[in-house]
Amino acid sequence: MPRKRAIKLRCPICKKAMKAADPDFPFCSDRCRLIDLGKWASGAYVISSPVTDADEAIRQDSVDDEDGD
Ligand SMILES: [Zn+2]
Repeated sequence: MPRKRAIKLRCPICKKAMKAADPDFPFCSDRCRLIDLGKWASGAYVISSPVTDADEAIRQDSVDDEDGD
């Protein structure tokens, strides 16, 4: 018995229900599309940034804090 699965599409940004026929798919609007674009842009910026000594120090500091020893 084949299961009919209704696929509910939601905008990944605002979670608003939408249709695949939407011209801005997979986003509900051009605004959400731009927001997603900004997320990717900022993410790529972080990835391309070199790890500095300051970042390492902060990371080790938080590990020490969790250890509590
Ligand atoms: Zn949206």
